[in-house]
Amino acid sequence: MMIVMKTGATEEEIQHVVERVEGVGAKAHLSRGEEVTVIGAVGDREHVMRLGLEGSAGVDRVVPILKPYKLASPQLRGGAPSVLEVAGRKVGGDHFALIAGPCTVESRDQTLDTARVVKAAGGTMLRGGAYKPRTSPYAFAGLGQAGLRILGEAKEETGLPIVTELMDTRDIEAVVEVADVIQVGARNMQNYALLAEIGRSGVPTLIKRGPSSTLEELLMAAEYVLKEGNENVMLCERGIRTFETAYRFTLDLTAIPVLKEMTHLPVIVDPSHAAGRRSLVESLSLGAAAAGADGIIVEVHPEPEEAICDGPQQLETDGFAAYVEKLERAAAVAGKTLSGAAA
Ligand code: PEP
Ligand code: MN
Repeated sequence: MMIVMKTGATEEEIQHVVERVEGVGAKAHLSRGEEVTVIGAVGDREHVMRLGLEGSAGVDRVVPILKPYKLASPQLRGGAPSVLEVAGRKVGGDHFALIAGPCTVESRDQTLDTARVVKAAGGTMLRGGAYKPRTSPYAFAGLGQAGLRILGEAKEETGLPIVTELMDTRDIEAVVEVADVIQVGARNMQNYALLAEIGRSGVPTLIKRGPSSTLEELLMAAEYVLKEGNENVMLCERGIRTFETAYRFTLDLTAIPVLKEMTHLPVIVDPSHAAGRRSLVESLSLGAAAAGADGIIVEVHPEPEEAICDGPQQLETDGFAAYVEKLERAAAVAGKTLSGAAA
């Protein structure tokens, strides 16, 4: 159920509703908009209904949320998009986030060189994996803690917030030492223990859509994080598995406007893993930005031919600034501006 408070409802009135909701064993999630506060009551619907909150002081109306995802539903924010803040940078609404960096942290030089290029081009955040999900158990799986330390150095030097993947709940403490955004990989989208742990950490997260997952399943994954009180969730479309074999995955651009109807959460697009080939990355990026994505997460490397993983799809640092200029223009078509550090 969603309890919409009246404009100007007092703090006491809000707290009173929260207490009554929690008194019947439901969880109250407060969402404070510019004018109106909405309280999402998640729990036994009958119990909340029986409270008869309609007519209580400060309450405007009580509305059922019919979708299985409650806290991700657009009603919770009265139709307004969520604007997240990551280390002073905004994501969502009119703010377009450019998250760029290597697939994997391979060395200090490779990561720092890339970070400098991303920063100079006006990037919003630096990406890079220290823990890598690999199809083969024999493939390089990342530098682990040594990789996290390198990301820490890159952050220190450039000031760019770090996006890095967490695969195992046992590594969360080490990862959050450096991560400003925890990435949940496509293969882990339905790892519910991992999602709940990230929810409890409160650290912003970017959840990648599983290659065979529906949008509703993606939103249910987000719900696991939101349910723990962590509102800082970004969704990521990174290509889905279809019958087409001419490229790695099929980038589902339709997911962008449809997710905007289904949720208030920001939608980021990963053109790199969808394409699998460098030559396609720019077109997919521009298409996604013009279609209203709230950001792009893209792989870039100083020497992609030498990359340990995902070489064929990583952009070269040479030419990255020109790519960003085009991307900014495409984002402007959708009314968005590149998000940088707060002035
Ligand atoms: C990645 O971003 O490094 C990655 C492995 O992506 P995905 O989980 O989408 O395959
Ligand atoms: Mn990769």
